Amino acid sequence: MIVGVPKEIYPGERRVALTPVVVPMLAKAGLEVAIEAGAGTEAGYPDAQYQDKGAKVLPDRAAVFAQCDIIVQVLCYGANDKNGANDLGLMRRGQLLVGFMRPLGSAETVQQLAQTGVTAFAVELMPRTTRAQSMDALSSMASIAGYKAVLIVANTLPRIFPMLTTAAGTITPSRVLVIGAGVAGLQAIATAKRLGAVISAYDVRPAAKEQVQSLGARFVELPLETQDAQDARGYAKAQDEAFYAKQRELLGRVVAESDAVITTAVVPGKKAPVLVTADMVKGMAPGSVILDLAAERGGNCELTKPGETVVQHGVTLIGTINLAAGVPHHASQTYARNLTSFLVNLVKDGKVRPAESDDIIRDTLLTQNGEVVNARVRESLGMPALAVVSG
Ligand code: NAD
Repeated sequence: MIVGVPKEIYPGERRVALTPVVVPMLAKAGLEVAIEAGAGTEAGYPDAQYQDKGAKVLPDRAAVFAQCDIIVQVLCYGANDKNGANDLGLMRRGQLLVGFMRPLGSAETVQQLAQTGVTAFAVELMPRTTRAQSMDALSSMASIAGYKAVLIVANTLPRIFPMLTTAAGTITPSRVLVIGAGVAGLQAIATAKRLGAVISAYDVRPAAKEQVQSLGARFVELPLETQDAQDARGYAKAQDEAFYAKQRELLGRVVAESDAVITTAVVPGKKAPVLVTADMVKGMAPGSVILDLAAERGGNCELTKPGETVVQHGVTLIGTINLAAGVPHHASQTYARNLTSFLVNLVKDGKVRPAESDDIIRDTLLTQNGEVVNARVRESLGMPALAVVSG
């Protein structure tokens, strides 16, 4: 079987799905690799490096889709809501597609994918089990985004992060608040800590407290009932509006005392909760910065403009999306390893293993034979359950 890597086409996307180093690992599993010419260039992986490792270079996108059995991408149609639809006409029945697809985003999009006949695997649906950890692309990308978020904030803030004692006096350290201490939030805390900031963090999941403290940050205790805040997969559960209103009220003071706020709070399949209101932004000192990592999902700050940086009430609001694309070399390196682990588990002796045989394959399988076959996705998008054919 041939695994094909088209060049990413989402505007500003510089990552690539596979890097040269994984080509021999896939070859060992009986998988050849073919890339579109220039696919890895922007991530720092020239065509020649792929060829040295035994991959083929194909002249254009159409050739990759036509000649390969498995197409791997970073942003497939769905996750690429700008020009990803261009690929629908290139896909064919029975071809495998693996990548980010935003499967809980819209019923129309996943149905369009299904109608092409592709067998699509969405990496967002990866189970959070020990065995799937090496394939967990959401975590790899979140970690990189959390790191990059801090660098952008540090670069935007009119202050420095560390405390400095100089002959010209003492500079107090910047105060950074991280709301949402999941994978991205924890990496943001660790990065801001290395730069010398004083960090506070908050999360609805009680389990986050210990992780925050172990990184040397202060956990913000809010008198809120949060016992039921975590689902079986380790994700936050959606709360009602009364809960979010109370949360905003309690967070107000902490936000006002912070020089920078990084928000990462999301709930799978739901719009991100608004945790920082316009009034809270008004209460911050001029020159403060808010970076909203949830911008793509609607934003945690009421004034965030997804994809843009705006200044409101003297506060810079950064709504940059797709931050991991800003660190394309290492983001591609980790993503390629995630995909390689996934593919090696998926294909045995030149054949795709049946979904029933493995929870990783079953959970990530989104479309097959023209249907959206993932029960969790169907339920989340309000699609009727598929009839079970018996006998
Ligand atoms: P995520 O990206 O879905 O959400 C980011 C964070 O926002 C989460 O910590 C969530 O609790 C928080 N959040 C949601 N609503 C909030 C609110 N109203 N206020 C404050 N915070 C809110 O989550 P994630 O980063 O992907 O991971 C969540 C957890 O899963 C983490 O504890 C992580 O360590 C764990 N995890 C486990 C595995 C594994 O077992 N293999 C893999 C990855 C992550």
